[in-house]
Amino acid sequence: MSKSALNPSITPPKSPLTCEIAVIGSGPGGAITACLLAEAGRDVLLIEEGSHFALESCPPFSQLELEQKYRNGGLTAAFGKPKIQYVEGRCVGGGSEINSGLYHRTPPEILEKWQTEFAVDALSETELLPHFEACEQAVTVCKLPGKPPLASLKLHQGAVSLGWQSLEVPRWFRYQEQTDASPTPKGTRQSMTETFIPRAINAGCKLLTNTRIYLIRQQGKQWFIKGDYLGNIETKQAVEIQAETLFICCGAIQTPALLRRSGITNNIGNSLQMHPTVKVIAQFNETVNSVDMGVPVHQVKEFAPRFSFGCSISSPPYLAVGMTDHPQYRQQVDENWQKMAIYYAMITGSGQGSVRTLPGFRDPLVRYRLTQQDLKDLSEALQKLSQLLFEADAKILYPSISNFPRLTQPNELKQIPETLPKSQTNLMTVHVMSSCPMGENLEKCAVNSFGKVHGFNNLYISDASLLCTAPGVNPQGSIMAIARRNALKFLGKL
Ligand SMILES: Cc1cc2nc3c(=O)[nH]c(=O)nc-3n(C[C@H](O)[C@H](O)[C@H](O)COP(=O)(O)OP(=O)(O)OC[C@H]3O[C@@H](n4cnc5c(N)ncnc54)[C@H](O)[C@@H]3O)c2cc1C
Repeated sequence: MSKSALNPSITPPKSPLTCEIAVIGSGPGGAITACLLAEAGRDVLLIEEGSHFALESCPPFSQLELEQKYRNGGLTAAFGKPKIQYVEGRCVGGGSEINSGLYHRTPPEILEKWQTEFAVDALSETELLPHFEACEQAVTVCKLPGKPPLASLKLHQGAVSLGWQSLEVPRWFRYQEQTDASPTPKGTRQSMTETFIPRAINAGCKLLTNTRIYLIRQQGKQWFIKGDYLGNIETKQAVEIQAETLFICCGAIQTPALLRRSGITNNIGNSLQMHPTVKVIAQFNETVNSVDMGVPVHQVKEFAPRFSFGCSISSPPYLAVGMTDHPQYRQQVDENWQKMAIYYAMITGSGQGSVRTLPGFRDPLVRYRLTQQDLKDLSEALQKLSQLLFEADAKILYPSISNFPRLTQPNELKQIPETLPKSQTNLMTVHVMSSCPMGENLEKCAVNSFGKVHGFNNLYISDASLLCTAPGVNPQGSIMAIARRNALKFLGKL
């Protein structure tokens, strides 16, 4: 355990622990569930595999953050052609501690699709509205009070010039009053360790960190939970917990892995979805980047839900990684990083993946198959994004396709093939979901409309796994609202 980790509430655990409700996983789904149940006076134990770090324990988007707060240092991939790099948080607060905080409500047409195709009850826009509003207030969703970063404005400028719809996306952020003339507003990301987790602890929830659960088993009316306490560097320590009710909130990859390892497999881990994303580094003649650039806030939604564009974190280490597809131009990052930024085109995707456990392996096998249409959409999205960037005065573009020439003028865009080459294209995603979809359609769904696992008593899921399909927008807003709705339903307060 790192020295900068905060003390967990229980360390090391004395087995067996007992509680009324165990919540496994402390990302947005788990933190909100634990908080609302504890605030209702229930006896809750929140269990987290990662350590409890203060938000400011490391600079955002740094190497140290990758080591402290990401699973496997951020090196995880879904196998397929092409394979897709994905990342997961592994710390108290989960992905909310490392993400960009860009907030969207679930689009109404997506809610309609989930109600029709998956038979989810009580999920209309009107029914979700109070949950969106309550979560927005709890994590302070707001727009940037000052000027957005220059690289973000470039995206907006290109879109406006082409007549395409571009919007500034609000974030869960609390901004300070500006005391200096700095153009970048300073603030604090309202992650789970800043919001729902302290509330849960204040309400009496116990937090057990550094504890990885690998098996759950129901015997009579009790759930028996087996795990390893990883806080002692020298040895693992076995942990056993008994609970009457169990919420699994380990995220869209680890939730199906834990359930499948425990022999619970019906519609679990068969329908993984994501937002496959292709990137392009743009180089301008003028400065667009700086050490304190922060998170770009514009997104172009002209072609949504099929695809959207945005600007990524573009610090020199991120640019250096992005440039691995063009190693001959690597020195451009050292010499010109202030004039460079990373942009992305994200598709909603019609492909599907799976999560499977392998005997003897800790990490699950994750597979994802892009459809031919996905490869075409990615290509069209990359072409349109490149067109926009030239419109915004970019001088050189480096797409994330290995052995592909850099582009220096708009008429070279036709070199981007109609279908992106599977063996050369490097795709990634930070949005994984839908591995245990909710609803009353028993052919497709793992859990009912409110997260209770079909065929089991006192077993619930509350995390990104529940979203029936990829929403086409940043997903945490949907995860939070649905977690709140389901916790209130469990408490009989909906
Ligand atoms: C770099 C990055 C940027 C992102 N940007 C945005 C954004 O701007 N806007 C947005 O809406 N979304 C964003 N996301 C996505 C968002 O963070 C996730 O969708 C969200 O965190 C998922 O919440 P969750 O509750 O499903 O699970 P997670 O946040 O993944 O949390 C699950 C937790 O469970 C723990 N866990 C897993 N297995 C076990 C086990 N066996 N035992 C005990 N504990 C376990 C994990 O350590 C983790 O802490 C981003 C994600 C990343 C990684």
